[in-house]
Amino acid sequence: MSVRSLFAPADEVLSQRYPFVVPALSYAVNAVEPAIDAQTMSIHHDRHHAAYVTSLNKALEAFPDLHPYTLGELLMGLRKWPAAVQVAIRNHGGGHANHALYWGLLAPGSAGAQTPSGVLAEMITRDFTTLTACTAALKAAGLAQFGSGWAWLVKTATSRLAVRGLPNQDSPLLNGELPIVGIDVWEHAYYLKYQNRRADYLDAVLARINWDVAGAQLKR
Ligand code: MN
Repeated sequence: MSVRSLFAPADEVLSQRYPFVVPALSYAVNAVEPAIDAQTMSIHHDRHHAAYVTSLNKALEAFPDLHPYTLGELLMGLRKWPAAVQVAIRNHGGGHANHALYWGLLAPGSAGAQTPSGVLAEMITRDFTTLTACTAALKAAGLAQFGSGWAWLVKTATSRLAVRGLPNQDSPLLNGELPIVGIDVWEHAYYLKYQNRRADYLDAVLARINWDVAGAQLKR
């Protein structure tokens, strides 16, 4: 799988090189209410996401040989890098990539497609029969994730859609799979508003997915 064919201009964060920067939200912190409350949005973006970027930069400071590589290349090539920096790339690099996608997938207000179209719609029909079945599988993966992690809709190496539950900040890119939809199920993503009601958070977020953004991931 060629890195260049995976990452066309669509995803600026996966194309970033050291030093990495947190992308600004493209909407106001209250734009995804009531699914995501403004306080959770601002703490999650300004502190949690920012901390992954700060830690990633700090870890890579001492590895100038890795500075020419993009974030996408660092994640996909994890096993090639010095052992001393692999955990930082996996955790903090993954955290940077995963959150950048998540912000884009949340539809502010009524913006963004409510249902998939084009190639993504065809793949969902082929691999899940219905969108409802696809989002139900994502919800189940989010509920089943023990501890911190993410529920993912990915494109596999054989170009099928599949749902995965991955721990911590592991990116599907580590496994050579392309992230299409990622739902953060770390408690920091929902606890202020939903407390232990992870299922309610998953329902609310899955109803606010911008399927145009999800579909655009296939073009990378
Ligand atoms: Mn998070």
